[in-house]
Amino acid sequence: MGPEHDPDLIELRPVRSYRVEELQLVGNYAMQIFWDDGHSAGIYAWPYLRRLCPCSICQAERAGSGQSQEDR
Ligand SMILES: [Zn+2]
Repeated sequence: MGPEHDPDLIELRPVRSYRVEELQLVGNYAMQIFWDDGHSAGIYAWPYLRRLCPCSICQAERAGSGQSQEDR
């Protein structure tokens, strides 16, 4: 009789939030991120970060510039 449990509607809350403690350049092509939980796995190359960037400049660049590094 209770409300049906739709698995799509389960609210997923982050267990905790992570903060970036330090950024370190890796060569000139990438950046390593040190999180405040101590882990630092993962190197993020600029093109990858650029693709994630939600700012209007980067969005316009992705939409406009005809550079097709993204089609794979
Ligand atoms: Zn941006």
